[in-house]
Amino acid sequence: QAELAMYDAKKAGRDQIRFFDFEMQEQADKRTELEAGIRKGLDSQEFCLYYQSQHEADGSVLGYEALVRWVREGVVIPPSDFIPQAEQSGLIIPLGQWILKTACEQLAKWKELPDKQHLSIAVNISAVQFQDPKFAQQVISLLDQTQAPADRLELEITESMLISDLDKIIDILLLLKTRGIRFSLDDFGTGYSSLDRLTNLPLDQLKIDQRFVRNLDKHSRDAAVVKTIIDLGRNLGLSVIAEGVETDNQRERLLELGCYQFQGYLFAKPALLPE
Ligand code: C2E
Ligand code: MG
Ligand code: MG
Ligand code: MG
Repeated sequence: QAELAMYDAKKAGRDQIRFFDFEMQEQADKRTELEAGIRKGLDSQEFCLYYQSQHEADGSVLGYEALVRWVREGVVIPPSDFIPQAEQSGLIIPLGQWILKTACEQLAKWKELPDKQHLSIAVNISAVQFQDPKFAQQVISLLDQTQAPADRLELEITESMLISDLDKIIDILLLLKTRGIRFSLDDFGTGYSSLDRLTNLPLDQLKIDQRFVRNLDKHSRDAAVVKTIIDLGRNLGLSVIAEGVETDNQRERLLELGCYQFQGYLFAKPALLPE
């Protein structure tokens, strides 16, 4: 079809515009299709949560990060293939609600199990979701509805969410923190937020982005960044976790630098929880 359009455009002489129009149309169609797919996927429960364990220095599991997957005709689709479109279309609001509710239901189940009740779940929050004026109230309603232990729920936000009115953001964080919810700053070090903004936020945890962890044991520059994040976290009274830990070397370097919590393929890949 694209070839046909190219041929048409050529036939039309230098009329490149027709070709670009066609491509744009095709992209728009794909977007609409994806959007309809997400909508239908929500209705027919095609989404599921994978969980990736988070570990203490002694190897014990402190909790899990919930990572959404879309299972479409048996194929597992990663979030990078649909979250951006869900954000653009606003569908991230119902999808995000479903994700939070599912995580809360899991926490409520664990609450009844003595060997599981200490476990926490971290849920990624999209900027679009966070900007929704109803966000905080919806989280509180979900906690009430599911009877999930709020102090086991951690919300992961990113620096990109911190660009708007800081006072408003702080209000939302404080409101949810009075319920016991904790906040973690995901992908830390990759955004553009100023230290001034960051240090004013009532956070609980910094999450070192995997791009700094990847070459930690090879590049002194990455080691310097990681060390700086760990020291900043410690000085602000925050816990620090490293993500994307794949090797024993990386884990050892992190320990030497003062990071005692880990997440990564070295420990476990994201997967469905065993029933
Ligand atoms: P993230 O929150 O930073 O999640 C970490 C990503 O790194 C996950 O990819 C995880 O599978 C991957 N990962 C974990 N350990 C390792 C490792 O040792 N090596 C490598 N190379 N990768 C590792 P995933 O699940 O594809 O998610 C990608 C991103 O999509 C997430 O980054 C997050 O920003 C977003 N995302 C995932 N689930 C959700 C969700 O439920 N809601 C929202 N709004 N965003 C989500
Ligand atoms: Mg995350
Ligand atoms: Mg992230
Ligand atoms: Mg991350």
